[in-house]
Amino acid sequence: MGIFPSQRKVTGYDPLAFTVTINTGRCMFCSKDGEVTMPSHAWELYADGEGQQIQYAWPEGSMGEREQVMNGTHPACFAEMFPPPPEEEDTQSVNYANGDTP
Ligand SMILES: [Zn+2]
Repeated sequence: MGIFPSQRKVTGYDPLAFTVTINTGRCMFCSKDGEVTMPSHAWELYADGEGQQIQYAWPEGSMGEREQVMNGTHPACFAEMFPPPPEEEDTQSVNYANGDTP
């Protein structure tokens, strides 16, 4: 049970695809609601936060999707707030084309 009451609610169910659509509540960055569609078995395991941890309930989900199910944060908003570190220039790489030997 989390500290904050869950804003999540199931808004859709596709019995043919075995997926549920979850309204994930308000995103703390843009204050807009969001939705995630996930396998219904994963949602049942997660049990709206009362069951298994999301990474075990839904290992196939992307990190962004799981994050959004947990706390409503859109993957795009999260990426904007916490951009990944720039890739380091690989100055040490060996250039075999220039005659370097492996
Ligand atoms: Zn957002």
